[in-house]
Amino acid sequence: MNENSTYQLLRSHLSVLRLGTAAEALPGVLEQAKAERLGHTAMLERLLGLEVEATEHRRRASLERFASLPAPWRLSDFDFDAQPSVDRSLVNELGTLGFLEDATNVLFIGPPGVGKTMLAIGLARASIDAGYRTYYTTAADLVARCHRAALEGRWATTMRFFAGPRLLIIDEVGYLPLQNEAAAALFQVITQRYLKSSTVLTTNLGIASWGKIFDDPMVAAAMLDRLLHRSVVFNIDGESYRMRSHRARSEVTRKAVHQPITK
Ligand code: ADP
Ligand code: MG
Repeated sequence: MNENSTYQLLRSHLSVLRLGTAAEALPGVLEQAKAERLGHTAMLERLLGLEVEATEHRRRASLERFASLPAPWRLSDFDFDAQPSVDRSLVNELGTLGFLEDATNVLFIGPPGVGKTMLAIGLARASIDAGYRTYYTTAADLVARCHRAALEGRWATTMRFFAGPRLLIIDEVGYLPLQNEAAAALFQVITQRYLKSSTVLTTNLGIASWGKIFDDPMVAAAMLDRLLHRSVVFNIDGESYRMRSHRARSEVTRKAVHQPITK
């Protein structure tokens, strides 16, 4: 067989094996091999290395799309000095993702604007970067999706979907009261993940007020029991970061306005 038909055969092997990147890179790598006098091993390594890199890149992009994070925040963007009630070393410890190993849950509790969503997304980002399947939803979206699923006879599939991610973020629990089916949806999602995979949950309601979200206080108690059994809880107080920067801006404006005019 001459060299040209061997080359064609090799290209066809690569495309049958769906190694598209390697197939495309083949002519270039062969050129480099000649120019740099690469041995067979080095040449194969270079060719397949490109394929591995592309596969990894696609995997990351797909994890990223799946996660549906609403903002690009990282834990390192969080200004700890502005929110002293948040334990910096505990957040950094969580950022190493050891908590995923034993399905520990994380609860961020506090009033609006104190950075609960930001911290939850920061953990999600770290988890995606480490290659874990991660998914972000608000409690309202979760409930709406489960409601549609119930109507369309897809309840079981939807429950499997929420059981799947290694890390699930449920943002904004407590803004809307949850009745019957809605409470059941959240309860089942929490229950089926219990002791299997971690859930990060943010809420504006202190644990003592959880009864208020649910019509049935027994459901609230049972859910809290599972959430808290193995958990890290942040009670964030202090003022809203948005208000803080708003106030800082007004302060600057006020000072500017009252600046004595000097000549
Ligand atoms: P919450 O979910 O508690 O209502 P968010 O996480 O949405 O609050 O934060 C509100 C806004 O303030 C966001 O734009 C967020 O980036 C910013 N923010 C809040 N806390 C901090 C912080 N400590 N450092 C930097 N930005 C912050
Ligand atoms: Mg929020």
